[in-house]
Amino acid sequence: MNYYDQHLHTHFSYDSDADFLPYLEAFAGYIVTTEHFDLANPVTKQDDAPDYQAYTQTIDELNKKYGNRILKGIEIGYIASEKERILAYLADKTYDLKLLSVHHNGQFDYLDDFVADMDPNDIIPAYLSQLEDAVATIPANVFAHFDYGFRLFDLTPVDLKKFEPQLIRLFQAVIDKQLAFEVNAKSAYLYHNLALYDYAIDLYQSLGGTLFTIGSDGHQLEHFRLHFDDLFSLLHKKGVTELATYQNGHVKMVPFP
Ligand SMILES: [Zn+2]
Ligand SMILES: [Zn+2]
Repeated sequence: MNYYDQHLHTHFSYDSDADFLPYLEAFAGYIVTTEHFDLANPVTKQDDAPDYQAYTQTIDELNKKYGNRILKGIEIGYIASEKERILAYLADKTYDLKLLSVHHNGQFDYLDDFVADMDPNDIIPAYLSQLEDAVATIPANVFAHFDYGFRLFDLTPVDLKKFEPQLIRLFQAVIDKQLAFEVNAKSAYLYHNLALYDYAIDLYQSLGGTLFTIGSDGHQLEHFRLHFDDLFSLLHKKGVTELATYQNGHVKMVPFP
């Protein structure tokens, strides 16, 4: 089995218009979409949850035509105030793959333009605390885009190292919960955080972390499998020989080119 993109959105996410078909035509292996589930979303001022019934039905129909190549996924956007509702929504639904993310803090999304002018010394520790809370609270498979909360800051690894004690605590919790560490292509190449990933992967490995996924975080075909060859070679250089994939919530390690 070939490694497949494990962070991808369609129109079942509030911020994407993409359809399944272009992805299915662009790649011969599995397609899993990880649709946004962001309650109390300050971007839209509403709860954004994928329509599970319609999502499942669409996938069931496509699976008949495309040889069972489509898997179900969700990207859980954690916010402490909505913890109970998040868990209740997930309780009666099944997914192949669950990503765990923090996108907002109840007041703003970390990608809102004005965040770029805020003080990283305030934002980063608060964001990392939210991630620690998310990892402790929500069962999932993959710890997604660890850098989302500081994508807009022009950080170097030296800047990030200031927060290393908190990162160590967080990554240790990620390892303890057996979450895979996601290498997010959009972060690395569109937000120019490749050096931060290089640093974070080393830190995660130094603590004993071995599970990795690569996800494009594509919201359109143009970003599907973005720079995967480069990220494959980055992980090979770090001694990684297999990537984690998830079906029915179970991990399956696969080699990659
Ligand atoms: Zn995300
Ligand atoms: Zn995403």
